[in-house]
Amino acid sequence: MNAVHRGAHEQPRKRLFIAMLTLASTLILTSAFLLWWVPSIGLVNIHPFLPILFGGILGSLTLFIVGSLGLLILTLLTGRDLFFSQRLRGLVIRYLFPAIIGLGRLVGIDRDTLQQSFIALNNQLVRAKKLRVPAERALILLPHCIQLADCAIKITGNVDNCIRCGRCDISALAELARSHGIAVAVATGGTLARKIIVERRPQFILAVACERDLTAGIRDAYPLPVIGLLNHRPYGPCFNTSIDFVEVEKALAEHILP
Ligand code: SF4
Repeated sequence: MNAVHRGAHEQPRKRLFIAMLTLASTLILTSAFLLWWVPSIGLVNIHPFLPILFGGILGSLTLFIVGSLGLLILTLLTGRDLFFSQRLRGLVIRYLFPAIIGLGRLVGIDRDTLQQSFIALNNQLVRAKKLRVPAERALILLPHCIQLADCAIKITGNVDNCIRCGRCDISALAELARSHGIAVAVATGGTLARKIIVERRPQFILAVACERDLTAGIRDAYPLPVIGLLNHRPYGPCFNTSIDFVEVEKALAEHILP
């Protein structure tokens, strides 16, 4: 996998999800019409009122689903917390994302791109909440691959074991977290990440990882608000990865109380 450059790519990634949501809405509307139209030909023979009743039920359901998708698109376009962004995030995380992945595959979009899009969308929904927490209730969660592969120091469990030699980003990240008074933890996988979250009970998580781990992490941690930042992978996946500090500082400034 190549290094991922953020910022300039955030918008196109978000737009991809909006395009997929629009496609899903169109498919739902078309299917709902066919679902109503086909049986209504037979239903009218049973009772002339049945197609209207069936149409009413199906129409309300369709209106609800398409309305939610429309609200989601509007939230993404405006960046504002429109009514139920927490509920919308739940809807996206639980139901919409698996459906969009399936739909994306049908139209030939690869999983990584869709996951990037999902992360961008999640971040925007979290940002829309304009949530701010005290530093001691925040957690920075890092993947193990940010540590230099040939560093002999064990930092999982305690990042402060790092002697700050500066050969990898752990040094600056640990310093940044210390200066803000924010806990930072390194997880070697999803199970350890979950354990850390349960133990520390944060109110806000800034997670750094690859597409797959971030997507899984955001979904696992829900309803906890997680801002996901993709790591840079100039040497391929899971090896001597790095991070964009500007993005980290921006996310902390947005969500941590001064
Ligand atoms: S900065 Fe810390 S973790 Fe990275 S190589 Fe140096 S001692 Fe190891």
